[in-house]
Amino acid sequence: MKVLVINCGSSSLKYQVIDMENENVLAKGLVERIGIPGSVLKHEATGKEKVTIEDEMQDHKIALEHVIKAILDPAHGAIKDISEITAVGHRVVHGGEKFSASVKIDEDVKKAVEECIELAPLHNPPNLIGINACEEILPGVPMVGVFDTAFHQTMPKSSYLYGLPYEYYEKYKMRKYGFHGTSHKYVSQRTAELLGKNPEDINIITCHLGNGASVTAIEKGKSVDTSMGLTPLQGLIMGTRCGDIDPAIVTFLMEKENLSISQINDVMNKKSGVLGISGVSSDFRDIEQAAADNNERAKVALETYYKTVKKYIGSYMAEMGSLDAIIFTAGLGENSSEARAEICKDMQALGIEVDSERNNVRGKEQIISSDASKIKVLVIPTNEELMIARETLEVLNK
Ligand code: ADP
Repeated sequence: MKVLVINCGSSSLKYQVIDMENENVLAKGLVERIGIPGSVLKHEATGKEKVTIEDEMQDHKIALEHVIKAILDPAHGAIKDISEITAVGHRVVHGGEKFSASVKIDEDVKKAVEECIELAPLHNPPNLIGINACEEILPGVPMVGVFDTAFHQTMPKSSYLYGLPYEYYEKYKMRKYGFHGTSHKYVSQRTAELLGKNPEDINIITCHLGNGASVTAIEKGKSVDTSMGLTPLQGLIMGTRCGDIDPAIVTFLMEKENLSISQINDVMNKKSGVLGISGVSSDFRDIEQAAADNNERAKVALETYYKTVKKYIGSYMAEMGSLDAIIFTAGLGENSSEARAEICKDMQALGIEVDSERNNVRGKEQIISSDASKIKVLVIPTNEELMIARETLEVLNK
């Protein structure tokens, strides 16, 4: 049983072919610049040479045709016949309140995803385009939608309501949804496995720290609170996103700087975060380097970032009452020993202590807390594609 995992962005398409007999990745790749001059497909089948295919790809359907051709190619492909693909798993960003689990895609599901466009105008449309393209190119192959928001649907109302007039929740479904759910779920399940516990018996905090970043409180296997909100703008300071700010700043800046709605959105989504504070870059490697070279704004950007993560950890500990483990994942969480050490610094009184030698690790599963640390701290590389493939199989086997 081979599953094709698809993740469509507005001008990109990421994919993996996973053999579910052994969960091995047979091929993976990325199409960039779909609909923009200079479209390119970078494809790699496991154990074979990487190939780059440059050809104009005006839309996602044409991009997917190229992907299928690459997967089937006798020289650099991964399968012999398209019928070997037994199912397709699609990443869908926003499932609103409708989806608390992955679902088999049919016309009703597509309609529901469309209704959520209002909540994720940048993400859901390309997700739908990918679904439609697959339907045309792989007719009859079952497809499953796996939602970034689904894992967080277990949050209690007291975690997801905003302090706004209740009618806006009723009218517009204004509430916290949370994102990165597939990643938080994957690393939380892996944590339980590694610690030899049932997910229902432990409380953990997962820190997904990439370009986008979120922290989730997972009590007895269920998400009970998370830092992202109605949109992925809330919560931590991120690469270019501002995260939590005083909402009054929005109207203040619009007035002072004479900004339109789209301009203020642009400021908060693309010009803020550690990029905005440091003025150096949105990439943590550049900022860490600049800070090491004594750039004051780079230093304060990192300090501010670490502090916001620390504060979420503290508040989620208070919310759950007891904690067994803290997990670091995604680009920064998996790779930066400095970030992990600084976030967990001076938390011995709370039962958290990172061992500097164990923390000297990059991109692999490891316990990094000291033996004295009451709460375990772990690095667990995330694997959203595998989680999507697993969920796809699970839904189809139901
Ligand atoms: P995305 O949200 O785009 O999936 P990733 O999870 O790939 O992001 O994370 C990207 C972030 O991880 C970048 O800001 C990058 O700087 C950071 N990162 C990756 N490797 C390292 C490293 N070795 N040291 C510090 N930061 C790193």
